[in-house]
Amino acid sequence: MGSKRLWKKTRLKKSYDAVMIGGGIHGLAAAYFLARDHGITNVAVIERRYIGFGGSGRNTAIVRANQRTQGNVRLYDEGLKLWATLIRELDFNMMFYNCGNLNTLHSEAAMGAARLAVCTAQLSGVRSELLDRKQCKELIPALNIEDNITYPILGGMYHPPGGIVRHDAVAWALAKGASRYGVHIHQNTEVTNINVEKGKVTGIITNKGTLKSPRVLICAGGYGALLAQMAGIKLPIHPLTIQAMVTQPLKPILNHVISSGAYHVYANQTLKGEIATGAHMDPWPNYTTNTTPYYMKHQAEALTELLPCLKGVKFMRHWAGIADMTPDMAPILHGNDPIEGLYLDVGWGYFGFKSGPITGKYMAEYMAKARRPQILKPFSLRRFEQFRHTGETAGAFSYGPWN
Ligand SMILES: Cc1cc2nc3c(=O)[nH]c(=O)nc-3n(C[C@H](O)[C@H](O)[C@H](O)COP(=O)(O)OP(=O)(O)OC[C@H]3O[C@@H](n4cnc5c(N)ncnc54)[C@H](O)[C@@H]3O)c2cc1C
Repeated sequence: MGSKRLWKKTRLKKSYDAVMIGGGIHGLAAAYFLARDHGITNVAVIERRYIGFGGSGRNTAIVRANQRTQGNVRLYDEGLKLWATLIRELDFNMMFYNCGNLNTLHSEAAMGAARLAVCTAQLSGVRSELLDRKQCKELIPALNIEDNITYPILGGMYHPPGGIVRHDAVAWALAKGASRYGVHIHQNTEVTNINVEKGKVTGIITNKGTLKSPRVLICAGGYGALLAQMAGIKLPIHPLTIQAMVTQPLKPILNHVISSGAYHVYANQTLKGEIATGAHMDPWPNYTTNTTPYYMKHQAEALTELLPCLKGVKFMRHWAGIADMTPDMAPILHGNDPIEGLYLDVGWGYFGFKSGPITGKYMAEYMAKARRPQILKPFSLRRFEQFRHTGETAGAFSYGPWN
C-alpha cells in the first residue's frame, strides 16, 4: 500500500500574493485561513528545515484559556474552542483531550493572584475556579498535599476546558488543509533577506532564489527577531531555551495537566502513558537547543515532591526549543507599520502552541484586509514604546502557569 502525501510537492514560483516565513503552526494556520476565508490561494509557506521543526514540534502540547488579562483570555478562549471545529474540518485526529488544568498554589500571594485570574476568566465566560487543597487531592489522588515538602500546597486554580492536543498532528493537519487550497509549502528553503522598497515590502530572498510578494508574514518562532532585523526592525524579544522531557510509559496516574509556579514544573500524562514535563526557561538569551542535566535533576526533584509515586521512574527523552519572549509575556501581532505589507506574528514565548490556529485565522484577516482585527488590538508592537504592557507577567510570576 502506497502512502499518500499530506501536502503536494510544488516548484518555487517567482511571485506569490502572500508569503509566510516559518513552517510552524502559526505560518501554516495563517496560510490555511488566508486561502479558506479570503480566497487568497497564491500563497507560500517557506520553511528552513521541515514542517514542525521549531516550537510547533517541541512543545508540551498544553492548551488552556485562563490567562491573566482580558485581552489574552478572549483570544485564547476562542482558540480553545477552535480545536474541535478544526479536527472535523481538516478530517485529522489531533488527539484533543480536554482533561482540565490544575495550577497548584503554594503561598498566600499566589492564592491572591489566582483569585484575580479566576475573576478575569469568569468575567469573560471562561470556566475557572479556586480549589482548596483537599479538592486538589480529589482531582489528582497522587498529589502530595502534606506539609512536609518544600512548598506545601495551599490550594489550586482549576480550569476544566483546558488540556492537551497532539502537536505534530496539528502541523500536519494544517499543512494538509492549506495544500488542498493550493498553498505551496517549501521545506529546506531558508529566507536570507527581506526586500523593502520605498517603505513597502516587495518580497524575500531565499537560498533557492528571490520571490516577489506584496505581503510577508514573519512567523519564525524563536528566530522571529532575526528575521525582523533583516527588514530593519528591532524587536523587544529575548530568545530563551526551554527544555522538556518524557518518562517511561506508566499506567494512568495523572488525569489532568498539572502546573506549579513555585516548583517551576508542569506535567501531563500522554495517551501513551509517558509523563511529559517541562520547566522554566534558561535565564540567559541564546539560540541553543542543547539540553542540560540541571533541568533533568530539577524536574525529578520537583515532580517527586508533588507526585511521590514517580520516585524511581526513568526519563527516556529530553529535548529543547527556543521561546521568543517579550517583556510582558504577550505576543506581537502587528502589521503595515513601519513597513507596508510586512506583518509580525512573533513573541509567543512558551504560549504559542495553544494560540496557533486562532492567531492564524486573525492574522489572515489582517493580511487580507490590511486592517487589524479588534481582537488583536492589545498586541501591537507600539505598546512597548507607549508603556502599555499587557500585564500577563503578573500571572506567570505569581501563580505560574508555565506553558
Ligand atoms: C519545550 C517547549 C514547550 C512548550 N510548551 C508549550 C505548551 O505546552 N503550550 C503552548 O501553547 N506553547 C508551548 N510552547 C511554545 C510553542 O511551542 C511556540 O510558541 C509555538 O510553537 C510557536 O509556533 P510558531 O509557528 O510561531 O513557530 P515555530 O513552530 O518555532 O516555527 C517557526 C519556524 O520558522 C523556521 N525558520 C526560522 N528561521 C527561518 C528562516 N530564515 N527561513 C525559513 N524558515 C525559518 C523554523 O525552522 C521553524 O520551523 C513550548 C515551547 C517549547 C520549546
